[in-house]
Amino acid sequence: MKRGIILKSSREIEVMRAAGRVVHQVLEQVRAAARPGMTTAQLNDEAERLIAEAGGVALFKGVEAPRARFPFPAALCTSVNEEVVHGVPGDRVLLSGDVLSVDCGVKLNGYCGDSAVTLPIGPITEPNQKLLQVTQETLELAIAEIRPGRRWSEIARQMQEYVERHGFTVVREFVGHGIGQEMHEDPKVPNYYDRFQARSDFELRPGLVLAIEPMVNMGTCDVEYKDLDFWTVVTRDRRWSAHFEHTVAVTEQGAAVLTGGT
Ligand code: MG
Ligand code: MG
Repeated sequence: MKRGIILKSSREIEVMRAAGRVVHQVLEQVRAAARPGMTTAQLNDEAERLIAEAGGVALFKGVEAPRARFPFPAALCTSVNEEVVHGVPGDRVLLSGDVLSVDCGVKLNGYCGDSAVTLPIGPITEPNQKLLQVTQETLELAIAEIRPGRRWSEIARQMQEYVERHGFTVVREFVGHGIGQEMHEDPKVPNYYDRFQARSDFELRPGLVLAIEPMVNMGTCDVEYKDLDFWTVVTRDRRWSAHFEHTVAVTEQGAAVLTGGT
């Protein structure tokens, strides 16, 4: 986060698309494998194998965070139910009715891709289906609104309005980010709008590549750490949460999704 916004050439964007393709494959593999009775560690093991086979580097592994007790130990963040983001894979067994957010970042040939989906484990309740659907639609809405010359705050405002119209809330403490040779670059990409956020607003320009990642809660937007390891983030009221993310390049024509499997 030192160098300011770094625009990417179309050649660089194609290299990022290759990294994004690996992320997409990992998430599709997890989607196919995730079912009641599996542990989040088993899903992570499969993801690590696939990333290594593809010649990629698992970006999350070894990441340090200011208060965290240990570097992040896995390739995936697996966040179940009331867990919002940064869940550490382990021996938790997935149950029918759970919702599992899976976040994956891969570096390939020096460039990064970052994407997340929230998956139903077996049949889930109708309110939870709605939560997943609205969160995914909020990401899709943002992507559809991208074009050069717009300001991010206009899109963030629409994302927030869409979420709140459905009775849900947008997480403030965690936001999207620029991405390129580093997983986290400038700018910060919030999914809500307020006058403080307006100070760091930015204009969409061709070559800007963003990881857009709405985190949507059923109840309060407030979050906290689950344990004293200071990794897993949970909702303060322990109601459930969903998360979807794509790495998206701004082009002359609009948006190019780099983690969409194309
Ligand atoms: Mg991510
Ligand atoms: Mg991200």
